[in-house]
Formats: sequence, C-alpha cells, structure tokens
Amino acid sequence: MKAFVTGGAGFIGSHLVDKLILRGDEVTVYDNLSSGDTKYIKHHLGDPRFKFIKADLLDLETIKKEIKNHDVVFHIAANPYVRLGETQTRLDLEQGTIATYNILEAMRINNIKKIVFSSSSVVYAETPPIDIPETYGPTLPISLYGAGKLGGEGLISSFCGTFGFQAWIYRFANVVGTRGTHGVIVDFIAKLEKNSRELEILGDGNQQKPYLYVTELVEGILFGFEHSNEQINLFNLSVDSNTTVRHIAEMVVEEMKLKNVKFKYTGGKRGWAGDVPRFQLSTAKMKKLGWQANLSSDGAVRKAIKEILSSF
Ligand code: NAD
Repeated sequence: MKAFVTGGAGFIGSHLVDKLILRGDEVTVYDNLSSGDTKYIKHHLGDPRFKFIKADLLDLETIKKEIKNHDVVFHIAANPYVRLGETQTRLDLEQGTIATYNILEAMRINNIKKIVFSSSSVVYAETPPIDIPETYGPTLPISLYGAGKLGGEGLISSFCGTFGFQAWIYRFANVVGTRGTHGVIVDFIAKLEKNSRELEILGDGNQQKPYLYVTELVEGILFGFEHSNEQINLFNLSVDSNTTVRHIAEMVVEEMKLKNVKFKYTGGKRGWAGDVPRFQLSTAKMKKLGWQANLSSDGAVRKAIKEILSSF
C-alpha cells in the first residue's frame, strides 16, 4: 500500500508512520513542521519506501502534485492545541476545515478515493453522563477546534456522497505517549521543572477524561481500516476507564520523585473556555469489530509520564 500521511512528523502521525513502514507499506509524509519535528522520522530517511515533503496543507498546488499515485491518505495534520481558538479565531478554520478540503480536492483530481481522518471526541461537546456512542447527536462543538474537526468530517462525508470516496473517521479520546509535544502531562512536567514546589492546575482538577496510549491508538486506526468496509466507517477510539487531572498531577509528582508539591487550582470546572470537562466514549463499536486497547486510562498516563520524563 502507498500511504500519504499528513502530519506524519508529529506525535501521532510519526507513530503511524513507524507502524506502516514496519508492515512494509510505502509512506510519504507531508508536514510543514509547525508542531512536528524531523527527529521523529529521521530513522526512516534513506529508506527507499519513505519520502518526506516539507510543505503546507494550505498550498493546494503542492498537495495536488505530491499526492499523485498514492492508494490512501491518512489525514492526521491539524492544529493540535484546542485552546488556541480562544485567541486565534481563523486557525481551526484554516488548519482544520480548509486543510481538509485541500486534501480532498487534491485526492479528487488525482482519483484517490480512500481517506482516514483523525477527528476528536470534541465534536460531541457536552453530553449527558453516558458512554457516548458514534450515533450520538446533535454534535454541536463548543470549541473552534471542535468546529474545525466537524467541518472536516462534513466535507469528507460530502466527498463520499458526491464523488464516491470511502472514509474512516476516528474520534480520538485524549492520546498520550512518547513524542507527545503538548497536553496535560507535558504541561505539568514543564511547570514542575521550572518550580518544583508548586503546580498550577487549570480548572478544579476534577476534569475526568479517557486517555489512550499512542501505539494502541495507531493499532486501532489500522485495525478499523482493515476490518471495516462501509462507505463511511465512523469509530470512537478510546478506553473504558478515565483519569482525573488531579490524579495525573499526583502521578507526575510521584514519577518525578518530588515531595510536598502544592497544587494551585485556577478554579472553575473547565480547564479553559471550550474545554469539555468530563466525557466517556463508548468503545462498543470497535470491540464488536474485534479491537480494544489493553492499557487502562491510568496505565496509559503512567507509561506516558515515564517515557516523556526519560526524554525531557
Ligand atoms: P501534532 O502537533 O504532534 O501533529 C500534527 C502534525 O501536523 C505536526 O507534525 C504538524 O507539523 C503538522 N501540521 C500542522 N499543520 C500543518 C499544515 N498546515 N501543513 C502541513 N502539516 C501541518 O499533534 P498530534 O497530537 O499528533 O495530533 C494529530 C492529529 O490527531 C490532529 O489532527 C489532532 O487534532 C488529532 N487529535 C489528537 C488528540 C491528542 O490527544 N493528541 C486527540 C484527538 C485528536
């Protein structure tokens, strides 16, 4: 299989690339390195099955040229920072929705019909306290990042309906692991490296979310891709347990072997405007297909903390 991976130099994308190369696939990474890094893909440079293109998804002409002759597109690139929408209101429109349109349009022109998309739990926004199934609706995001993702899903669905594309749309839980460049674990470690006596925690610490380990996420993506064949294959990728932000802080403190750290909460139930403080995704659909994660949410967080600390 010849795979075109947008965002392949990023956290999740680079793990996906490792797995694809290991399986024997040919891979082209298309990444502008805005939040990714060549250090995550440098071990593939020189491999004849691997190609890296440093370019932007807003550059439709370059995508049209480089995407030729691929079998499938894994569209992983996006702005990864949910909070930025508070201050940069065009960002998710451009990096989420328009970038996805450019990919789809370049695929259409080059007659490539299969797309795998990294969406997010944020499209569900605030739900009653249930394990949210993929059929839940209406999906009305409360962050601009969520709107960008939902816009991307809508465009993908419309290219399926209008041009006969086939899609695998995955709504990820929070993803953690080595090469993580952002998110709560990296944030806590960075803050504690600066000041080991006090840790600022956004919100009240009771935010409770499921955390999935990155290589397990990648396995789930490929398992779903290989075992489902509807025109639009929509799946949550998550775990059945969850972890509070306070517990993550405690685990980070423990793993850094610190004592008497004072937790300072900024207050309120959300970490930031547009944050969904509690959710749990149903994993039933992926389980029915035959896949589930092995690590619990706490297990994934603990493993990620250890790995991130060892590379800090
Ligand atoms: P990341 O920042 O590590 O990866 C994103 C990659 O895309 C980076 O390498 C970046 O350089 C690249 N990129 C961004 N804009 C680009 C552009 N305009 N042109 C070309 N390349 C561009 O983030 P990640 O955590 O690996 O996220 C990957 C995907 O998964 C994103 O779509 C994100 O929204 C989604 N997602 C992540 C999580 C999570 O917990 N990490 C949860 C849900 C969904």
